[in-house]
Formats: sequence, C-alpha cells, structure tokens
Amino acid sequence: MNKLSHIILSILMPLDPRHTAAVVLKVSDYGESDKIVTFYTQSFGKLACIAKGAKRSKKRFVNKLELFSLLQIIFDNKGSSLARIDEAELIRIYPLLREDYTRYAAATLICEILLNWTKEYDEDERLFTLLLWTLNALNSSTETIRTLILFHIKLFDILGYRPDLSVCSICGMPPAGREKIRFSISGSCIICSKCSKHKGSAEIPVSLSTLKLMQKTQDLPLTKLSRLCFSQTSSKEATNIVRQYSSYLLQRDIQSWNFL
Ligand SMILES: [Zn+2]
Repeated sequence: MNKLSHIILSILMPLDPRHTAAVVLKVSDYGESDKIVTFYTQSFGKLACIAKGAKRSKKRFVNKLELFSLLQIIFDNKGSSLARIDEAELIRIYPLLREDYTRYAAATLICEILLNWTKEYDEDERLFTLLLWTLNALNSSTETIRTLILFHIKLFDILGYRPDLSVCSICGMPPAGREKIRFSISGSCIICSKCSKHKGSAEIPVSLSTLKLMQKTQDLPLTKLSRLCFSQTSSKEATNIVRQYSSYLLQRDIQSWNFL
C-alpha cells in the first residue's frame, strides 16, 4: 500500500479501541463524577485514563479500579491527551496487599517507583513481568523487605543501571575475606578497602556476604529468587544501598519508604 492510500484509509477507518493487561498504580477523583486512573500496562507502558462516571455510578467499574488490581482494559485515546477507559475486566486482585499495613506500604512503594520511573506509551514487557512477580511475592510471602530488595536489583538491571559488584572499580581485584567494601552510588560500582582510602563521597559500607547475595539476585531468573535468604544484617545493608541508589538515579526521595 502506498503512503497516500494508507493515509486515506486511516482517515476513513478510525482506529480500533486498544486493549491490554494493566495494573492500577494510582486512582484519584476528577470533578463530580469521574476518576483518573494511572496504570502500568503490558502493551503501552504507563497510561493515564479517565474513567467517566466511575465516581457516581459504580456499576460499570465495580470493585475494579482499585489499587494494585490486575485488569484487562479497553481504552480509547482518540482526540484527547487523556485516554478514556471503556471497559475493565478483573483478572486478579491481591487481597493481602489491602489488608496488611506493611504489605500495603510496600506495594505503594512499588507503584511510586513505577510512576516516577516510567513514561507514557513506553512499554517494557520485562518491567510488566517484574511488577506482577513483585505484587504476587508481596501478597504470598511474609518477607516484604527481601521482596523490595529483589525488585530494586532487577529494576536497575532492566533500566540499564546494573552496578558492577564483581570487582573493585579502581584496582580491578575481586573483594575477599572480611575486608570493608564500599558501594559507590555515583560510580555504580564497588570499591575495596585499600582503594576507598583515596575516595570519600556517596559510599555505603557493605559486607561480602551481602554483595554475593546481590550478585546472585542479578544473575538468577525471577522464578528462582525465592531460594535466596537474606540475614537481618544483609537485609539492612542491601535496603540501604537500593534505597539510596534509586534516590540518586531518580534525583528525588521516594516518600513511601517512610511508611515501612
Ligand atoms: Zn581496589
């Protein structure tokens, strides 16, 4: 088909409404009767939609436009900057995320991260898979902090910010024994005790055992992450690193950490 006939055809035939799997990241009231819902979708990345009448008549979207729900949605984005959600079918809810405070706070943190770190219509299937894995893990496991650590390490990987944890970035030697290793936030790397004497800013102390766990998280597929056990010390060290590293990369604090 040549370019002109393609243009004519697209004018004559309006685009079909689009459908995709989507997770609810944020819901807010809009005017008297509508709601604005922001999703992370499988096929279109982040997507903000207006749900007409969702506030008044609950019939159409009953119990569907709730935080963390996984839906199949049909939306229309013609002629407006804000898409309009036409239909939503519930695929899965994660009940414990709404009942348990810590799990709720952790799931809210995941949503805040995705809202801040993704763009509309910039899809990434791996990110969508990671989101579903994380919600499922938060809903089924009691190890909330461990799940948050694993989520962040995989997230850095997907977004292209995977730090090199294998060797000291200055002398190139792998860390060994009980030496004090430091994670450099600005360098996205580690520095051994010898070399860290010459450095200083934005470095976080980390033990070798925590580093090894973080490396394994980088290398293992999502389906095998449940075998990793973080001690209390490793949880603390790794949480400190992922929290500060993500704030540095985003250039802002993630508020939801304060509720955990
Ligand atoms: Zn070194």
